Amino acid sequence: MTALPLYRSPDELRAALAPLRARGDLGFVPTMGALHEGHLSLIRASAAQSETTVVSVFVNPTQFGPSEDFDAYPRMLQDDIAAAQSAGADVIFAPDKAGIYPEPYRTYIEVEGITGTLCGRSREGHFRGVATVVWKLLQIVDPDRAFFGAKDAQQVRVIRQMVRDLLGRWEIVACPTVREADGLAMSSRNAYLSKKERARAPAIQEALGDAIARIEKGERHAGRIRVGIMERIEAASLRPDYVDVVSLDDLAPVHETQGDILIAVAAFAGATRLIDNVCIHIGDQVEERLP
Ligand code: AMP
Repeated sequence: MTALPLYRSPDELRAALAPLRARGDLGFVPTMGALHEGHLSLIRASAAQSETTVVSVFVNPTQFGPSEDFDAYPRMLQDDIAAAQSAGADVIFAPDKAGIYPEPYRTYIEVEGITGTLCGRSREGHFRGVATVVWKLLQIVDPDRAFFGAKDAQQVRVIRQMVRDLLGRWEIVACPTVREADGLAMSSRNAYLSKKERARAPAIQEALGDAIARIEKGERHAGRIRVGIMERIEAASLRPDYVDVVSLDDLAPVHETQGDILIAVAAFAGATRLIDNVCIHIGDQVEERLP
């Protein structure tokens, strides 16, 4: 296999994509690298639906808070290129910071109303950074559709809102969360976990599974569902950052679980912050759905 073409600057990438776009649909998978099966599932979904799949690898500085892990975030571009290629990627875009944020840099995108809750509450400025970089990447790649993981359900909602509000024409596709055999949601940050922390981490998904089981049995009280999840997580010696039961529509807390609901958790295993969630539709039956 010849190595995938790798582009470092937005202009180079735009020029390379022009003839490819004429051949058929373009799919796009934005990532921060350290690719795992979760990322690869997005690449496979794109490759199945698109003639050409572009994968970006960019550790976006503006979505990290000052005390977060930007410097420590794993970087392994050569491995990522090989993994992306095996999953069906055709082009890699790995810009440097100056290519995305030319100095002096002054413009950001702020999505209102749905970015102050959940991860937005504990990671101030996070979604401003996410929205800004995703908008830029979508502008540069200009795909027919872009693929995002349900693991970051709030991110999916924020990006959908941004694209709708700013009249973008890209289709936003959400894909299911990919998990380890014991249920832990795959994440590049799982590499930070010690053996002990790794053994405790599946409690997050187990707590969410319990919550669904209780809802299936008729529980509709969001407060009790929250407390049940919180207790299960604390019992596993994890430290909850938040446990919230919100409406999938506006991400506002609900009292009663009805309709389309997102149950979202962030919890620390040692110093590592892990997130997970379930999206469900509660009608005559309880069905999992995508954000
Ligand atoms: P990241 O590199 O963490 O910015 O993630 C890039 C994309 O991969 C985002 O759309 C994530 O939601 C998605 N992603 C990350 N982990 C998973 C997973 N376990 N399952 C599915 N998608 C994922």
